[in-house]
Amino acid sequence: MLQDMIKVIRQGDANGNGMLIRIKLPSGHEILGCPTENAYEGEWALGPTWNYVVMSDKPFLVDTGKFGMGGKLLEMMSSGGVSGKDLDFVIVSHGHEDHDGSLAEIVDYTKVRVKAHDIYDRLIRYYPERAPSNVRKNFPASCWRCFMPESFSEEHCIEYQRSRSSLKIDTIKDRCHKLDGNALAYHVPGHSPDSLAIVIGGEALLVGDTVLPDITPWPSQEKIFDNVRDILQPRYPYAHSVYGLRAYISSLKKMKAIAKELTEPVVLPAHRLFYNGQWNNINLITRADELITHHTQRCGDILKILEQGPKTAREIAVAHFDENLLKGFGILMAENEVISHCELLCSCNDTVLEKDEKFAATGSTNFESAVRSLTPEW
Ligand SMILES: [Zn+2]
Ligand SMILES: [Zn+2]
Repeated sequence: MLQDMIKVIRQGDANGNGMLIRIKLPSGHEILGCPTENAYEGEWALGPTWNYVVMSDKPFLVDTGKFGMGGKLLEMMSSGGVSGKDLDFVIVSHGHEDHDGSLAEIVDYTKVRVKAHDIYDRLIRYYPERAPSNVRKNFPASCWRCFMPESFSEEHCIEYQRSRSSLKIDTIKDRCHKLDGNALAYHVPGHSPDSLAIVIGGEALLVGDTVLPDITPWPSQEKIFDNVRDILQPRYPYAHSVYGLRAYISSLKKMKAIAKELTEPVVLPAHRLFYNGQWNNINLITRADELITHHTQRCGDILKILEQGPKTAREIAVAHFDENLLKGFGILMAENEVISHCELLCSCNDTVLEKDEKFAATGSTNFESAVRSLTPEW
C-alpha cells in the first residue's frame, strides 16, 4: 500500500497543497513528493502538480511546477534534505505549463542539466519565418494553435515561454531511454506529443499526466500536427503516432504492458496523489483499462448524438457535457475533447467532417474494433 511507504514531512491542505512527503520504496530508494499550487479552479481543477525528487544513483527532479514556483520548490527540496545544487538533472514529464513552468528558474539557480523528449526540444523554440501563415507566429511552435484565446496566452504564457525557449536540452530520442543505472524513461505521447513515463528500479512508475486518478487526462488533437509538421519531420512523420486520442490510447496500452512486467509498482501521478483528504492508490492496469473504456464509450455517445444529424464540435460538446463543465473556459476544454474523439471516429470511417465544420455519422460503428487493434510503438 502506498500509505505504508509514505512519511508526511509537512502537512498540507485537503488537496495536498503545502504538503511535503517522503516515499520509501521496498529497495530502500526514496522519492520526495513536492506538490506545487496551480491556479486552475472549478470543475476542471487538477489540484497541485506533484513534482518528485528521485534519490537514484544521484538525485534527480521530475517536473518543476507552474511559472513562479521555482523558489518554493527548492525550499521544499531543502526541507526534504536535498539541495538544488545536488541534482544530477531535471527531467520534464511533458511541456505543459503546470510541469515545466519553473524550469528556467530552477536551471538559473542550480545550473542543472535538463532532460526532455526530443519533441519538447523542437516545440519550445520560436520559428517566425517557418510558421504557417494562419498561426500565432509570435509564440513558440508548441503554442501556434492553442485552443485557449490569444488574450489569455498573452497574459499568462509569454514570459514563461520566453524563459524556456533558450534552454539547452539533453534530448531523449529513443522510445525507451536509460536515465541512469536505476531509471528508465518511456515515450508515451497522446496527452501531449512529448509525454514521458519514468520507471524507477522496477518498483515505481512516475506517470505524469498520462494516467491520473479520479479525472481523465485530456487527449491532444491530431490536427495540431498539420501546423508543426515541418518542425517534427522527418523523425515524426505521422500525426496519429504522437498527437490525439489514437496515440493516447496506444500509450495507455504501453503503460499496461510496462506495469505487467513489474510486481505491484507504486504509481505516482502528477496530479491528485492526495486529494479530498485521501491518498490515491493506482493500479495501473485497472486504471488504464478504465480510461480506455471511458474514451470508447464517449465515442459511442458522440455517434448517438450524431444520429439526430450533423453537428459541429461545439454543438456536440453542448449536447454531451454537463452544463457546469461548460462554464468559462470549460467549453473550450469540452470542445477539445470532442474533436479528439471525432478524429478517432473519422479515422475508422464512423464519421466524416463536412465542409461546414460539422461532423456527420456514416452509420458504421468500427470504433470499438479500431480501439482494440491500436498497438503501441516500442
Ligand atoms: Zn498536461
Ligand atoms: Zn498537468
